[in-house]
Amino acid sequence: METPFDIIIVGAGSAGSVIAARVTEDPNKQVLLLEAGPDYPDISETPFDLVNSHNNSYQDHDWGQAYRPTRGREVAFPRGRVTGGSSAVNTTIALRGMPEDYDEWADLGNSEWAWDNVLIAFNRLERDLDFGHEPYHGDAGPISIRRYPMAELLPQHQAFLSSARDLGYPDCNDANEPSSWGSGPHPMNKLGRLRISCAVGYLAPARIRPNLEIRANTLVRRLVIRQGRCIGVEVETVSGEVTELSARLVVLSAGALMSPAILLRSGVGPKAQLEQLGIDVVSDTPGVGQNLSDHPALSVACIVKDASIIDFDAPLIQTILRYTADGSDKRNDLQIEQISFTGKPGGRPMFAIAAVLEYQYGRGELRLENADPHVNPVVDNRFCEDERDVTRLVGCYKDALAFTRTGALADLVEQVTFPDPARPADDEAIAGFCRRICASGYHPCGTLKMGPDDDPQAVVDQFGCCHNLDGLVVADASIMPGVPRANTNLTCIMIGEMIGEWLRTSPTRYGL
Ligand SMILES: Cc1cc2nc3c(=O)[nH]c(=O)nc-3n(C[C@H](O)[C@H](O)[C@H](O)COP(=O)(O)OP(=O)(O)OC[C@H]3O[C@@H](n4cnc5c(N)ncnc54)[C@H](O)[C@@H]3O)c2cc1C
Repeated sequence: METPFDIIIVGAGSAGSVIAARVTEDPNKQVLLLEAGPDYPDISETPFDLVNSHNNSYQDHDWGQAYRPTRGREVAFPRGRVTGGSSAVNTTIALRGMPEDYDEWADLGNSEWAWDNVLIAFNRLERDLDFGHEPYHGDAGPISIRRYPMAELLPQHQAFLSSARDLGYPDCNDANEPSSWGSGPHPMNKLGRLRISCAVGYLAPARIRPNLEIRANTLVRRLVIRQGRCIGVEVETVSGEVTELSARLVVLSAGALMSPAILLRSGVGPKAQLEQLGIDVVSDTPGVGQNLSDHPALSVACIVKDASIIDFDAPLIQTILRYTADGSDKRNDLQIEQISFTGKPGGRPMFAIAAVLEYQYGRGELRLENADPHVNPVVDNRFCEDERDVTRLVGCYKDALAFTRTGALADLVEQVTFPDPARPADDEAIAGFCRRICASGYHPCGTLKMGPDDDPQAVVDQFGCCHNLDGLVVADASIMPGVPRANTNLTCIMIGEMIGEWLRTSPTRYGL
């Protein structure tokens, strides 16, 4: 084995980059950050798809992962494969969950994650250029956040806000104000076109430190485990060379799909699945790959009257409506988003309105097809199998349709093409769409959930320490007990801030 490091971090994504940056503030900790994708240390030499926050990067830095949203078809499930991880390819919506989301985690036996605690980390991670002076915001963190002012909104987004007002929703200038709801500009971690990913915000200033080594193009195949302790990782370079690297502690931050896949390949997971795949069982841990939580979404598609407002080079998203379903006790459990363009360049000029379920009761599952580290896991989201999810998504979809019939947004619409206006769009028909063709908001989490050791489904404790394996911490979207009522990037960065700070300030808790 190669010279030991104090900590090996697997995955330079939203959480892993933050942990690398925070832990190496202590010059006595030697850290190796491993990333399967490439690394671009210099923004001027970074490929355009990573710089350009106006649209997602789906191909050039992607894992080629697929998933089944419902029992039907399999579709692409983008995940960033590059330093910065999915934060380097995403839409840059910078939304926090509801305070109740984190209090719910605390109520499940994870008291450290109560809102009052995580708010400190949310404030520390951001430089909010609009509301940084407020006590519930930060003005000096690595991630710059701003909102498009009215004058910079595309016509369809200006119209969306106007129609929202006509429909009776209140204006909301700061969707991250903890008690807020209504429609307004999205908080976004972008400056002009530049995406402020975790590679830009966290790794760029940290990478000059002599105690941080970033090793890109290095695939972690599995963990090296001896006598119940994780002592390192088995890695493969792009040229196919396989070696083992050791450290006093391994932090798994490969994301909600790849972190459980690595654990399963290492023999930590549901015993029956491991035996079926011929993987030696190190620890029968039933929760690995279970509890998959996400945001199901369904869109209305519209042809517009004026083709000049559809520009595939413009920002994909600028505005949001956050609100609560009728009769629901989960505040802001729904989102409606104006999507600036859809379809293909050169096709009919179209935009979309997305209805998104933000508080999901149902759960999905992830498992391995085989033990080959080059084969992606099988992902079944099982959206809309819980009737509480169907009912609220149907309501949200009807509310999204109302925008096409109301005020300034209706004036832009030539024709709604989905749902087909020639067919009935009653509750039953919409529920059928939800059960068959709703799709992910690209926010998988929960597949290695945290919880006390008397919870049979919990894989790690609230500090990220693996219940059944010494020397291993998990810190990424997979440890969330459930998806928060917000796009997940800021929450993943917050997880990196929380666990990164604990590693730095309480190393003995982690055996360091
Ligand atoms: C297209 C898209 C758009 C999105 N838009 C938004 C948005 O606008 N706002 C928002 O809040 N959220 C958004 N999200 C979700 C958000 O970006 C993710 O929830 C978040 O980035 C996940 O962070 P993570 O640290 O858990 O994992 P990731 O950021 O995905 O990091 C995991 C890292 O581990 C690496 N890795 C994985 N396996 C291995 C291995 N075996 N060996 C070595 N390295 C490995 C990966 O390459 C990656 O760099 C979007 C996601 C996508 C894909």
